Amino acid sequence: MQLRFGLILGFAVGLGFALAAPEFATAGGCPDGGKLVEHEVKSGQTLSGIAVEHGVTQRSIERANPTLDPNKIRVGQTIKVCLPGEAKSSSSSSSSSSSSKKKSSGSGKSCGGSKTISVHEVGKGDTLSGIANKYDVSVDRILSRNPKLKKDPNSLRVGQELLICADTRRAKASKTCGYRTPVHEHEVLPGEHLGEIAGRYGVRRKDLIRLNSKLKNNANLLSVGQTIRVCPEIAPRETTKLEYTVQSGDTLSGIAKKYKLTSNELLGYQRGKLKDANDLKVGQKLVVYKSGSVIPGFGAYDDDSGVLKSGVQMPPGKYYVLKTPSRAYGTGDTVRMIQSAINAYRRKWKSSPKIHIGDLSRKGGGPLKPHKSHQHGKDVDIGYVLKGDKKDEIRFVSANANNLDVARTWTLIKAFLDTDEVKYIFMDHTIQKLLYDHAKSKGVSKDTLDEFFQYPRGKGRGHGIIRHSKGHVNHFHVRFRK
Ligand SMILES: [Zn+2]
Repeated sequence: MQLRFGLILGFAVGLGFALAAPEFATAGGCPDGGKLVEHEVKSGQTLSGIAVEHGVTQRSIERANPTLDPNKIRVGQTIKVCLPGEAKSSSSSSSSSSSSKKKSSGSGKSCGGSKTISVHEVGKGDTLSGIANKYDVSVDRILSRNPKLKKDPNSLRVGQELLICADTRRAKASKTCGYRTPVHEHEVLPGEHLGEIAGRYGVRRKDLIRLNSKLKNNANLLSVGQTIRVCPEIAPRETTKLEYTVQSGDTLSGIAKKYKLTSNELLGYQRGKLKDANDLKVGQKLVVYKSGSVIPGFGAYDDDSGVLKSGVQMPPGKYYVLKTPSRAYGTGDTVRMIQSAINAYRRKWKSSPKIHIGDLSRKGGGPLKPHKSHQHGKDVDIGYVLKGDKKDEIRFVSANANNLDVARTWTLIKAFLDTDEVKYIFMDHTIQKLLYDHAKSKGVSKDTLDEFFQYPRGKGRGHGIIRHSKGHVNHFHVRFRK
């Protein structure tokens, strides 16, 4: 019945009848007199991307689809979109016919090339630079579309609607990043080097070089303010520049700690005006780049849950022991990379206790107690290489400065990192320190240490591929990228 009605209406419009009956158009249920269209989800699309495409806010789509989980939209799924009321002037072109979705996207008006106008409803915690980043446009471009805001950029309010001219095809999760995250542009801060920038986003220096052809020739020549493209594994945060006046009793490390920075980072921000900690004087002004909230559009996406479709069981091996073979299923890539890392390790250490491999995933994947992850065959728990009488114990034994075989464990960790497919390694902060000091004493450069380790930053700071997570003092956890 509904279908027939739609056909008749379409026919009437086609003939040029002035069948202006806005109440028909809104019969599908748009609250503000807007026009309802249906959008069929295509591969790679996200809810915010769809919102941008139709020139509406994500919130308005969520309102029109109360049962929809924004993080779980599927290809082929139909989503209701309420186009703003003003679009009515183009007449009652359709009802809920999905074939009409393209031409009726009223306020998604073209603003040049493949760019269209979208409406952004300012949310809590939004900043201009954050919004600009989300839509991949400049702050200036937003200001030029919103004259009121241009007069007073501080007049940004929650609920305010901004017009943004953006390339809808580039919005949200980028193809460059395998549709997992949008591309982020990092602005180089004073004193930063490439390893540190890689660490900030939990990626490798080579990932950055791959994404930024400029870096290919000289990756060490960075200039302040230069932008570097990154597919962040650690969500980027707003950065605010502020001035700190040194008080009596202040120490450099104390000030750094206050802003979750290392003394070295803080020193770097001073662009040579402060040589070392002893140089600090009361009343002196320091530049601080403070990290704030996660930039909108980069929020946490759930990558812990899932299933394992064509999993492979880790076979028995000469150099390792499987704690529980029934919980040792991984993707083909994961199994291969664990084997190749252990083989590389054994090429360096001809004698070694067997490596103790704990859980990967169960057959078929899905929840595996007591873990939150270990669901899609891309996680593995591995015991640290120990020395002393506990080194061959199959159960995981807590490691510390006395029993950890630092040299062997570092080789093992490095072998995993060298697969180039590690997303992160969870490791207790105390063990990080032991390995960091060891690697440093063996001549590993600061750039590389900053790339790999969260330490010496605090355990709460998202930095590096090797990061602290509770419960990883007797084993480390490797998450592979694929
Ligand atoms: Zn684990």
